[in-house]
Amino acid sequence: MPMIFCVSASDAPSSPGAYVLWLQLGAPLDVRIGKISATLPAGDYLYCGSAKGPGGLRARLARHMRKNKRAHWHVDQLTFVAKALGAFVEEGGDECALNAALDDLPVPIAGFGSSDCRRCAAHLRFWPEGAALPSRWENARKAARFT
Ligand SMILES: [Zn+2]
Repeated sequence: MPMIFCVSASDAPSSPGAYVLWLQLGAPLDVRIGKISATLPAGDYLYCGSAKGPGGLRARLARHMRKNKRAHWHVDQLTFVAKALGAFVEEGGDECALNAALDDLPVPIAGFGSSDCRRCAAHLRFWPEGAALPSRWENARKAARFT
């Protein structure tokens, strides 16, 4: 399936698939995963996940973009305070394949968001300012800007 970029959750399909949420931290944030605590510097982050439950990608992204919720996943620590700038979405896609396409981007905290994954070092990437994403990602972002 083609990749699309959604500015808001309502742009996303209600079918299952994988997504990469674009989050922006305005200030450093202390996070905990299990017994480890670490500080994420201010800046842009990409979080890879998959949505297989009812409501599919749309429902999952709506939850990520909402502040009023009970903490459940590692990434909730970010979504409570970070600005959600949109999401790359692939219907029927695989979160680990999307994450692998971002291999050039640094992993800020090993294991973040990937407790149930054996393939990836983490499902969260730091996105340094000006760092290019793969071309089909950049194309999806450009296409969203003009619709
Ligand atoms: Zn993975």
